[in-house]
Amino acid sequence: MGAACDHEHPDCRPGLAEVERTLAAVEGQCAAEGERMTAPRRRVLELLLAAGEPVKAYDLIARFGADGQAAKPPTVYRALEFLERRGVVHRIASISAYVACTSAADDARAHAAAFLICDCCGATEEVAVAGGEAFLEAAASAGYSIERTTIEGHGRCPACRVAV
Ligand SMILES: [Zn+2]
Ligand SMILES: [Zn+2]
Ligand SMILES: [Zn+2]
Repeated sequence: MGAACDHEHPDCRPGLAEVERTLAAVEGQCAAEGERMTAPRRRVLELLLAAGEPVKAYDLIARFGADGQAAKPPTVYRALEFLERRGVVHRIASISAYVACTSAADDARAHAAAFLICDCCGATEEVAVAGGEAFLEAAASAGYSIERTTIEGHGRCPACRVAV
């Protein structure tokens, strides 16, 4: 997203090996459940993992082709929809961007995603919240089938808090 401020920020992009490991793990989960990790789904997840931060859909479309070719928007939106449904990607509505899930949960779909969002530099961090499971249980006992829950907290990250 790029920092709006000019002080130092930690680089949170994962290494290539880590991106590949996560891709392989998600591919394995999909295969185990009879879902196909198609090339566009894999590519979109790869872009989000490599970015290590939220990315707007139009940037995913622009970066899609390894040769610099943009994707057809529906290709990317359909891939995002699939990845979001599986819980490996979250949409952060308040900044209309997508981010790869960093929760280590085995069953990604069971978790309510909570994000800390820095309004100064745009940094985001997914955190586990104690109430998430209870909320999903409450939804289930009310007879609802909830596809996604995202809690978004805005403020300042540690780096921006100390830099005044
Ligand atoms: Zn998550
Ligand atoms: Zn910040
Ligand atoms: Zn800042």
